[in-house]
Amino acid sequence: MIDYIIIGAGLAGCVLAQNIANKLDKKVLIIEKRNHIGGNCFDYKDENNILIHKYGPHLFHTDNREVVEYLSQFTSWDIYNHEVLAYIDGKKVSIPFNFNTLYEVFPESKAKALEDKLLQNYEYNLKIPILELKKSEDKDLAFLADYIYDKVFVNYTAKQWGMKPEEMDTAVTARVPVFIGRDNRYFNDNYQMMPTNGYTKMIENMLNHPNIKIMINTDFKEVCSLENEQFYLFDSKFDGKVIYTGQIDELFDYKFGELPYRSVDMKFETVEKEFYQEKATVNYPNDYEFTRITEFKHIHPTKSDKTTILKEYPQEYKIGKNTPYYPIFTATNQENYNRYLEYSKEFKNLVLVGRLAEYKYYDMDDIIKRALEVFDKEIYEQN
Ligand code: UDP
Repeated sequence: MIDYIIIGAGLAGCVLAQNIANKLDKKVLIIEKRNHIGGNCFDYKDENNILIHKYGPHLFHTDNREVVEYLSQFTSWDIYNHEVLAYIDGKKVSIPFNFNTLYEVFPESKAKALEDKLLQNYEYNLKIPILELKKSEDKDLAFLADYIYDKVFVNYTAKQWGMKPEEMDTAVTARVPVFIGRDNRYFNDNYQMMPTNGYTKMIENMLNHPNIKIMINTDFKEVCSLENEQFYLFDSKFDGKVIYTGQIDELFDYKFGELPYRSVDMKFETVEKEFYQEKATVNYPNDYEFTRITEFKHIHPTKSDKTTILKEYPQEYKIGKNTPYYPIFTATNQENYNRYLEYSKEFKNLVLVGRLAEYKYYDMDDIIKRALEVFDKEIYEQN
């Protein structure tokens, strides 16, 4: 007997499975298309004995203590503060753009003048989205905003999304704000750390419960079907809750058209030296076809005379050809998503959670928080 079906073994699905199994003592079946659990957080030790993130760098950072306490049941942590450099005009400089970057890219007197100007206009430790700074009427600040926009954002965003920063939801570029201060870290959150033995191990621990069964290598359409608002599991009516974490357009057979996603071709390389670059990630806004290079040894220190790097080549998502990583945030796409969302409300026992099902740019901590809330409000309270 199965009480809940969960489609997708990423963070959203696994957090819900763990809660249902432990707090409700109900039986869960997780159906996963890939040959592994963990969704895009999946990590494993490669041939160089380096723990790599198969679907691109996943750095855990949060201000949410509840999320940390929840995950700490399944892993211990290693402190890790992510730092990123950007390759600009032949130099690697600190990103997010901050006071240190000013002195790295401009002569000292000019950097000092711009620093003073920023401090006259903004509070210390403030974060300003580039599209906000661009509205500045002060001529020095407008110069600086144009410089940062041109050197850091416009070309990177063209590669990553095929769009200009202002064509997208402002929240996207606001993820990497200009920082009024000297903190070179990519994130400012209170908690910045990595699960000691990786995400896959942490998620395996979450799922280690007799109430949880997992089918990997299984497209949910091989075992489930949907007819006249009714779910079927192996041809029998299924009246329990179905928690769906995949693409919402795929669930409903693209009835309102395909929702666009951005994909990335992840190209790993072994380099025959101890370290390849100074920091875990170097962004290449203006050069090469890839957006960034990540060297995993900096994230999970490993003794080895070789190193593994990852180059990310963004590309259009094509059904069946590559992986949908990012929803694309334009007003039109959001409207199309809303049509699916409205339609989904006709299915009383369907719960949608996750980056793909909700068409949202969730970070890992956001999705854990969201899954815990869904459990409390839509599952626990209704049980
Ligand atoms: N971005 C940019 N230049 C950079 C870093 C980020 O233009 O050097 C923009 C780009 O549009 C990117 C967004 O900011 O998609 C968010 O960056 P983040 O590093 O948070 O992306 P993620 O790690 O989620 O791919």
